[in-house]
Amino acid sequence: RAKEAGRGGHAFFERFMFDEAEDNRLLEQDVREALSSNGLTLAYQPIIDASTGEIVAREALLRWRHPRRGDIPPDQFIPIIEDAGLIHQIGDWVIREACAQAARWDSRMRVAVNISAAQLSGAGLSKTVLGALASSRLEPSRLELEVTENVFLGDDAATLTSLERLRALGVRLVLDDFGKGYSSFGYLSRAQFSKIKIDQSFVRGAAEGSKDCVAIVHAILALARGLGVETTAEGVETEAQAEVMRCLGCAQLQGFHFGRPVPVEEFAGADEAVRHRRSA
Ligand code: C2E
Ligand code: MG
Ligand code: MG
Ligand code: MG
Repeated sequence: RAKEAGRGGHAFFERFMFDEAEDNRLLEQDVREALSSNGLTLAYQPIIDASTGEIVAREALLRWRHPRRGDIPPDQFIPIIEDAGLIHQIGDWVIREACAQAARWDSRMRVAVNISAAQLSGAGLSKTVLGALASSRLEPSRLELEVTENVFLGDDAATLTSLERLRALGVRLVLDDFGKGYSSFGYLSRAQFSKIKIDQSFVRGAAEGSKDCVAIVHAILALARGLGVETTAEGVETEAQAEVMRCLGCAQLQGFHFGRPVPVEEFAGADEAVRHRRSA
């Protein structure tokens, strides 16, 4: 019996590996289909001014509702998209769609779009952004492009050239998930970022009373002030976390406490109402 179970285990293991490769192939086909049939959508999450409580920007987050498997999170399907060589096609769609949406919002509202390292490595990104800005007539300064430190792990020189080309278009560069990975002050001095987003782990830790997390947040905020860049605290889930980040001097807050990522239909018209109130 033991032998059988062992063999069964082995077979199971092989099967598991096979299934995973097979799985990704199937998902790859499915994502191609989704791309051509409007199966990919964007959800938008508000970013709040910490002192006024007003929405100052919305971050576009890619959503895929699989016909049989339900919602698949971007952390899971973006690597598949990248392996399949579809990241440029899909990434371009995200940029164009987000710009077209934002052009309809209150003229002070910005839109943030996430850019992966693979997207940045191609030469075509600045062309796409330029095209999206032109056809949407969105003011370049209303577009924020969020990258993580990962973009610096490959070819540094090429990355910096790409970032510089984007910045020359007048868009704002944002360093996402700061502190989470291989954070280095070097990245901050080499590329000119307009904003740093403080990773959720520090927000959580600081509110739980971790002296180390408070010290780190404090240091990041001092650094940001010195560099003249904005700050956003990510993943704020409770009023206690919001309060701590406000007290430490973080300018913007984002997280489930203020609003989850939602499809555009769920807030469309809200900006119209704001504009109406302002002009009334
Ligand atoms: P990110 O850019 O750091 O986005 C923040 C993630 O945290 C989002 O997850 C968001 O839904 C989630 N989040 C926001 N507030 C809270 C909170 O209060 N608590 C918790 N627990 N989570 C919160 P999501 O949408 O699953 O996206 C994950 C990552 O996938 C993003 O991290 C981003 O790196 C990437 N991503 C999303 N959309 C795109 C896209 O269009 N293109 C590219 N290249 N990457 C994308
Ligand atoms: Mg982001
Ligand atoms: Mg983030
Ligand atoms: Mg992230």
